[in-house]
This record gives sequence, C-alpha cells and structure tokens, in this order.
Amino acid sequence: MARVMNFGAGPGTLPLAALERAQEDLLDFDGTGMGICEHSHRGKAYSALHAEIKALLTSLLGLDESWEVLLLQGGASAQFAQIPMNFLGPEARADYVLTGTWGEHALAEARRMVGGRARVAGTSGTGPGAVAHLGAGYTRVVRPEEVTVDPGASYVHCTSNETVHGVQFGHVPGRWFDAGAVPVVCDVSSDFLAAPTDLSPFSLVYAGAQKNLGPSGLVVVLVRKDFLARAVTHLPNIFSYAVQAKNDSLYNTPATLSVYLARNVLSWVGDLGGLPAMEARNHGKATTLYAAIDRAAEFYRAPVEKTSRSVMNAVFRLPTEALENAFVAAAEKEGMFGLKGHRSVGGIRVSMYNAVEPAWISALAAFMDDFARKAG
Ligand SMILES: *Cc1c(COP(=O)(O)O)cnc(C)c1O
Repeated sequence: MARVMNFGAGPGTLPLAALERAQEDLLDFDGTGMGICEHSHRGKAYSALHAEIKALLTSLLGLDESWEVLLLQGGASAQFAQIPMNFLGPEARADYVLTGTWGEHALAEARRMVGGRARVAGTSGTGPGAVAHLGAGYTRVVRPEEVTVDPGASYVHCTSNETVHGVQFGHVPGRWFDAGAVPVVCDVSSDFLAAPTDLSPFSLVYAGAQKNLGPSGLVVVLVRKDFLARAVTHLPNIFSYAVQAKNDSLYNTPATLSVYLARNVLSWVGDLGGLPAMEARNHGKATTLYAAIDRAAEFYRAPVEKTSRSVMNAVFRLPTEALENAFVAAAEKEGMFGLKGHRSVGGIRVSMYNAVEPAWISALAAFMDDFARKAG
C-alpha cells in the first residue's frame, strides 16, 4: 500500500487508524455478519453507534445539557440555507460577519430568502467579492471595532476559519466582536475539534465533516436548546432543527457510513489525548510550516496577517504562476498532494487538518526550503 501525503482542503486526509478499523466493519460490523452500510438505522447495532458518536462529541467538547447534538446531511452549504429557514420569520433580520468566501456564501444564501434583511455587520474584505458590494481579498479577521451588530437581529453569523483564504479567528471567541445579546451562529467546518473550544459565546455551531471529522455526507450541528426554542415552525420537516432534535437526528435515514467513519475519527482523537493533544499537534505543524514560509518570505508570499493566520489552512503565492505549477508538480513527485490553492484565489494552500501527520509537514517544509533555494 502506498498512501501519499495528502494536504487536500476537503475532503481531507483521514487518520489511518480510522480507515483500517473500517476495513473489517465494511464487511462485518462488530461481529453482526453485516457490513456497517447494510444495517438498518433503526436496528440495535446502528443505534449503539449513533449513541456512541453523540457521547464522543459531548465528552470531547465538554457539552452540557443545554446543547442539542444533531447529525445531519447536505454539508455546511445546507446549513447556509437551514439557518435562515429556521430562525428568520417574516420580519426577522440577521447579521453576517465576513472574513472570507464561506461567510459570503452563507450571506448570499440568506439573501436569496430574505433579501436585505440579511445584512453585513462587518467585513475584513477589501476588493469586489463574490456577492455584490461585498469584499474579497481577505487577509485578516475583522477587528472588533469593525463590527456593529444590530441588536434586533435574530442571530449574527460568522466563520471561525475561512478555509479558502487561510484566515482564522483563533480560540478566544469572546473577543472576536461584540454581539451584545444577539445569538452567535458560527460555521466551524474547517477547525472543528482542532483545539479545546470555548463554546459559551455561541448559540449554534456547525461543521461539515470532510475537513476534520470524517468523509463528506455528514454535518454536525450543535444548537442550544433555548435558541432552538425560537425557531419558526412553518417549514418542511426535513429542514427543521426542531423535528430533527425531536427524532434524535433519525427523522429519516442518516448518512450511516459517514457517521460510522466519524465515530472512528473521534475515537482516534480521544486515543491521542483529546482536544488538548490536537491543539499541541496542530500548533506544532503550523509553526513548522509558517517558519518555512517566513524563511523565504520573498519567495513564498503569505498574504494573511500573522495574527490571523490559520492553523488549519496556510495559503501563499510564489513569484509566478509558472513557478506555482512547478512547485505543485515537484511536490507530487515527492508524494505530496492536494497543494493547489482554491480555484477562486489560486496559489498554494497547505491544509493541516488533525489527521495530517506532523512528519508530513516536516517533509513539506524541507521540500519548500529546497525548492526556494533552487528556483529563488
Ligand atoms: C468546506 C467548507 C464549506 C462547504 O462545505 P460543503 O460541505 O461542501 O457544503 C463551508 N464552510 C467552510 C468553512 C468550509 O471549510
């Protein structure tokens, strides 16, 4: 078997232990004589798995009784729609804080439903963006004084880590901006479980699985029960958080294989020492990688301000596009894949999700030193 070093931005690499565990369970899950995909989602074996993954999330994140844990489908993009569907009644307004592309997408989806009642509360974008009148060219998170939250808004939405731009708020939520008493909703897709996280400022967080949690097909939504109580009721059952909560996320057939694999990933996180261990592991990788960038700062141009640099996705440019293509091709020869930047911004992106091995980052950093010396 020849597995490569996969720095892809999502779907990203998964822990080898989680995949190896799945090999047998695909054929015969826990000695039941049936593969995991073949089990009824209402049967005993799947029910135990379903309870186990919820328990793992609850213990890793230290969730108390105030939270509802939902395991849904449709990815983070479905949440862009489901959040306004659930929380914006006929007159209601919502605020969006923009620090990159994904926040823009969330806003655009809300505007499709409620038009101008979805408002920009603050942005760190500087150029013409994906949404009319909004900014692209994000190189940092917003400063607190750049955000004005409408006290009458039903929620304010933000993105903890902007995957495309490599811009991350970090782990001091209270200081991101002042939301007053307005519930804060956060897309945590690309830094979920990357470090111990204080969820106290949030009313709802959601994470598409395929960055840090498992394969695509699953999105985890953590919602506070008191916020959920404010949801509108006139909407299709399948899109209603309340209906999903009432049915323990088993209103219809869940993505059983994705849930199963996420269980394996979560138990791997636990085995390694939980979120504090993930934080140490990720901090070490990011330090190594950014040091390689900064050693050749004329050659590897990292646009993001240092205090907003993402621990999960590092982005940089080389002097020319031809050099970027040569970089990607030479890296592939060394067994390093997934380094091309997002198609909307170009350049290079190194994703350093939980499952990315520290040794891969060390190898990449050495490759970068070498490449810059030869080409620079
Ligand atoms: C990848 C990503 C998304 C989109 O996820 P889908 O599952 O493809 O809908 C949204 N937000 C963030 C922060 C992401 O990283």
